[in-house]
Amino acid sequence: MSRDNKTFNLREGAFPIKMDLAIEDIELQNIGKLKDDINANIEISLISNGLFHCEGLIKTVFVDKCHSCLKDIEVNLDFTCNLVIKDENIMMEDSSNQDQTHYQDLEYFDIKQLIEEEVSLNYPNTVKCEGECLEINLSKLEGKNLPFKKIRDLID
Ligand SMILES: [Zn+2]
Repeated sequence: MSRDNKTFNLREGAFPIKMDLAIEDIELQNIGKLKDDINANIEISLISNGLFHCEGLIKTVFVDKCHSCLKDIEVNLDFTCNLVIKDENIMMEDSSNQDQTHYQDLEYFDIKQLIEEEVSLNYPNTVKCEGECLEINLSKLEGKNLPFKKIRDLID
């Protein structure tokens, strides 16, 4: 489980930092369950003192429930991230207005936290089956009623 330790100091070290990570667990609520590891290919480079650029490729598969028929479906995530990393201490006074900025403690930089944030931002708001699933929904309800009807018939 040594792969769990993904904290490092961005204030010192050689750049760029290239990482090929596999994350087995994620601490996000309200999204599906991880089916596979999160594969992240990340490169962090130094722009200037206290300013870093991060780009990468994040890929994973979740299992979630369809919003309308509640069937388990797979949610494939495959996206690129391209952002600027700054120290969390300057978050309040930062007026650069950049959209894609990730703030964190640079001395104890946790790459997992960045990846979790990116996954959460890229996770679909509504998870749905492909195509029509209202019909499936109806037939499922009818199917569900059948056993009860049978039991009732037996009691009668
Ligand atoms: Zn559905």
